[in-house]
Amino acid sequence: MEKLIIGSHVSYTKDEGLLKSVKETLSYNANTFMFYIGAPQNTIRAKIDEEKTITAQKLMQENNIDINNVIIHAPYIVNLANNKDEDKYNFSIDFLKKELKRAQTLGINKVVLHPGSHVNLGLEKGLNNIINALNIILEDKEGPIICLETMAGKGTELGKTFEEIKTIIDGVNNKERVKVCLDTCHLNDAGYDLTNFDKLLDEFDKIIGINNIACIHINDSKNIKASHKDRHENIGLGTIGFENLIKIIYHEKLKKVPKILETPYISVDNGKDRTYPPYKFEIEMIKNKKFNQNLIKDIQNYYNKSL
Ligand code: FE
Ligand code: FE
Ligand code: ZN
Repeated sequence: MEKLIIGSHVSYTKDEGLLKSVKETLSYNANTFMFYIGAPQNTIRAKIDEEKTITAQKLMQENNIDINNVIIHAPYIVNLANNKDEDKYNFSIDFLKKELKRAQTLGINKVVLHPGSHVNLGLEKGLNNIINALNIILEDKEGPIICLETMAGKGTELGKTFEEIKTIIDGVNNKERVKVCLDTCHLNDAGYDLTNFDKLLDEFDKIIGINNIACIHINDSKNIKASHKDRHENIGLGTIGFENLIKIIYHEKLKKVPKILETPYISVDNGKDRTYPPYKFEIEMIKNKKFNQNLIKDIQNYYNKSL
């Protein structure tokens, strides 16, 4: 039997780099992970420490974490869809090229990217800007692949339909290096029906091809279908629901695809005014295939005691 490939968003720090990400992953009993090389909302990047990277890679091997299942998320402030400010647009292209090089230095070959928001340029111009940018970013025949994430369609976000993602892929010359990342919260918020995932997957297969799914973000949603909001909820506590998410996570045709949780941190009333990751508990619940009615309470108790 093939093993479930599951993990979550984890941190990557200036001092510990990838080693921090791996340690955090192991603390959640996960076997893959996703991280930003720095803060998601900025483009400041520290130099990658070679020695710590090697230590991290060794730790992964020892714990059966296949580096081919590990994901980097590009910062969400780069926007390839809008070129009104030419300097900004060129900066985004240049930054992503360098981000792919950094991914390569870390030994990671999948980088998730939000396609971008056209702002006020319209759908067609926006999509063309993305295609043009990707053709520069992916001009080398080999290198890490970009996984275009399906989006909720908040504001002027592109990539909210399979057709838009398909248009982008069609325009990219180097198709070997462009794949797709599904996000269950985004799909729901964009208007797709996750209560009939087989049908959704068939539709995806007809338009883009199921083999192009390289990653899946597993999130519940705070909002109803077609709300175009993009607010993630903890597993089983949102409008998608536990059973529907379990069907996706354990889908026969998606066994080899890494599943990544990006669910919200939990407030714990311990006077420290900070929130705590739910992933250890959500992963356990997913492995048990049984919804934990006390999920939030269990998380709060755990972090009240342990920290
Ligand atoms: Fe994302
Ligand atoms: Fe996502
Ligand atoms: Zn999201």
